[in-house]
Amino acid sequence: MEPQNPLPPGSTIGILGAGQLGRMMAMAASQLGYHSISYAPPGDNVAADTCAELHESSWSDVEALADFVRRCDVVTYEFENVPVSAVSAVPADMLAPGPRALEVAQDRLNEKSFVEQLGGRSAPYMRVDSDDDFARAMERVGAPGILKIARDGYDGKGQWRVMGSFEADGVRFPGRPCVYEGMVDFQDEFSVILVRTHSGEVRFWDSTANFHEGGMLVKSVLPAGEAVESQVAEAREISAKVAHALQYVGVLTLEFFATKQGPVFNEMAPRVHNSGHWTIEGAATSQFENHVRAICGLPLGEPGSRFPQIEMRNIVGEAALTAHEMLSDPGEPRLHLYGKREAREGRKMGHVTRVSH
Ligand code: AMP
Repeated sequence: MEPQNPLPPGSTIGILGAGQLGRMMAMAASQLGYHSISYAPPGDNVAADTCAELHESSWSDVEALADFVRRCDVVTYEFENVPVSAVSAVPADMLAPGPRALEVAQDRLNEKSFVEQLGGRSAPYMRVDSDDDFARAMERVGAPGILKIARDGYDGKGQWRVMGSFEADGVRFPGRPCVYEGMVDFQDEFSVILVRTHSGEVRFWDSTANFHEGGMLVKSVLPAGEAVESQVAEAREISAKVAHALQYVGVLTLEFFATKQGPVFNEMAPRVHNSGHWTIEGAATSQFENHVRAICGLPLGEPGSRFPQIEMRNIVGEAALTAHEMLSDPGEPRLHLYGKREAREGRKMGHVTRVSH
């Protein structure tokens, strides 16, 4: 997308994907006087509550996509697995971030080599396209390690841990392209969340320490502690290089392991991120608002943290059914529920942010 004049109030932002990220993005957009409409395949599209229109059709429905795009002044995405063929329906000068970011981030092998070419480091890994490749990867990379599907995985899905040998752990090549990675001995996990404008200005939010269970984010905490703080500068440097190389516009997230050898890149998301939800209350400008500002050509807001201690915790599965009880907590938790119809096990239903002065 080319540098542009700011989109006037009343313009329409089209969001590809209609989950909780789109829902919160549309809230920020409406505060700035924009309308949001979203497009997604049929499903529990919770962004419908905050978007003026929900267009439900498949990613391959060329006519429905064209009709959607005609109604927009700018188009963005909140889901990194939108097929690149679907975003190609959007004129380049209306799309932010661009399609290259999607292409790179949709494939674990692509994103690793992209970041490595710019000077970042990854865990040792090998591409696995067959049983033989898997055996070779086990020999070269060794155990413990993790076999991950190269595309479409999320929240720890499509990942299998090999602690000793793949036979003993019952891990098999799943018949689709994978990457096998050595297990990283990390002190902490963190993410760099940045926003970049059309003119190349980059700002960063503070990096939280992120805690995962079973591959899914459980909580993000500030201050992040010494291990993370000492590595943020290097991680920001490589993250900014990635953003510039992609001519990125909007919010971009890179996840890292803090190790004794420095920050090790894990994966990137070309979008606002779960580990940045704390910014709604905790930062002077949230990730959602700055994403909207960037894609609409408005000046960025200050991303600085407003409190010395901040914790964001995900609400998963049936915990959502009793979440309103938290509101009697004297610590003033800020509760966000995403309006999902069914509280299935392992499903992100909301989050809660606590701050202390
Ligand atoms: P991912 O889907 O790649 O973000 O993985 C989800 C989570 O699994 C990460 O946030 C880590 O907690 C863990 N994990 C993934 N890959 C590795 C690795 N190579 N070494 C250690 N832990 C990992």
